[in-house]
Amino acid sequence: MAKQNNLHCSFCGRSREEVKILIAGQEGHICENCVEHAEEIIAQELTAKNNPAGVGSAGTVQVRKPKEIKQFLDDYVIGQDEAKKILCVAVYNHYKRVNNKQIVDDVEIEKSNIIMVGETGTGKTLLAKSIARLLNVPFAIVDATVFTEAGYVGEDVESMLTRLLQNCNYDVAAAERGIVYVDEIDKIARKGDNPSITRDVSGEGVQQGLLKMLEGTEVLVPPQGGRKHPEQKMIKVDTKNILFICGGAFDGIDKVIARRINTNAIGFSVNKDEQEHQRSNLLEFINAQDLKSFGLIPELLGRLPVVTHLNPLDAETLRSILTEPKNSLIKQFTRLFDMEGIALTIDAAVLDFMVSKAMEYKLGARGLRSICESILTEAMFELPGTETTTLHVTLDYAQQMFNKSKLSALKVA
Ligand code: ADP
Repeated sequence: MAKQNNLHCSFCGRSREEVKILIAGQEGHICENCVEHAEEIIAQELTAKNNPAGVGSAGTVQVRKPKEIKQFLDDYVIGQDEAKKILCVAVYNHYKRVNNKQIVDDVEIEKSNIIMVGETGTGKTLLAKSIARLLNVPFAIVDATVFTEAGYVGEDVESMLTRLLQNCNYDVAAAERGIVYVDEIDKIARKGDNPSITRDVSGEGVQQGLLKMLEGTEVLVPPQGGRKHPEQKMIKVDTKNILFICGGAFDGIDKVIARRINTNAIGFSVNKDEQEHQRSNLLEFINAQDLKSFGLIPELLGRLPVVTHLNPLDAETLRSILTEPKNSLIKQFTRLFDMEGIALTIDAAVLDFMVSKAMEYKLGARGLRSICESILTEAMFELPGTETTTLHVTLDYAQQMFNKSKLSALKVA
């Protein structure tokens, strides 16, 4: 008879010591984690049967036309038209390629992974997430800064696929058509434009590690993440049809672009107005060469052929973000109050106040949420359980609440 401590889960391979419960079957065992996963898979399968719009059984994704994708994005993401267009086309082509496996006349369509450059909080993650939602494909957000070259402390790049698998309950076929958003790709830039002589654990090594994965290869993925160890059963995932969207702020890249444009402009008579315009919209001119100068290796850039940028958010855009998206902050808070039987109304001046604070404290769109919270928390604490049925937020009230909050103590850098 097998010794008690040799027992392991026949599904994930975890040993008796690594799990809380191990249920014995006729020829194997199952742990509580796998029971949970199995339950989720069953729930998902049953929902999928009633929702055939998602990943088709023949392994295809129901692709929308670029214009339809953009229309959907417009409901959730304000502005960023240029980035939206480029993304829509890239995503459309990508899934056309996935659904059309035939190679006609030796023309094989290559993968069009995407890189988005733009300040933090301008909607990069939101764009990627919204596209995945529309197409109903598995989606994972990973942070490039957690990865290190294999053999060093940190995570292997393969663990990004663990995240993707987990998000679709280990449905490998679905994961193989999913989207991975790699955030902070700029943080793994190598320092300086020259290949380093010493080993660059966090930068170039990780970029090298990403190459095969981005291009398309079969990767052995540890189902629970972390480091690979020999006893762990691996899941094989083919990344050929996974769309990778990378994003980063690339702080200071405007100077790189400016330098390039100035060099290129020698001999042309660029007038002063035009120069001004160029300076304020430098990101518009971004190309792979600038990203290389910033420290991304050419091999990586070769696997991220679609480059686009997001504009910084001005006051007008922030104002629209508050109210216009389908699940805008104001709509969300109104709904929260509504669930308490309280009708929330907010004066337009309050919205302008929120925007001016977000601009003043340089908090961007992400800060709008904290500002809303700071103004409405008191009411959300006090009103439930009372007879109150309306809450009208005036500028006076908003200022009072904001000044009481910790946010108002923020110093502008
Ligand atoms: P990034 O990935 O560029 O750092 P995110 O996409 O995570 O930024 O944006 C942070 C939050 O700010 C989002 O959840 C969203 O609520 C809001 N946001 C940012 N940009 C936009 C935009 N253009 N339209 C609507 N909401 C936005």
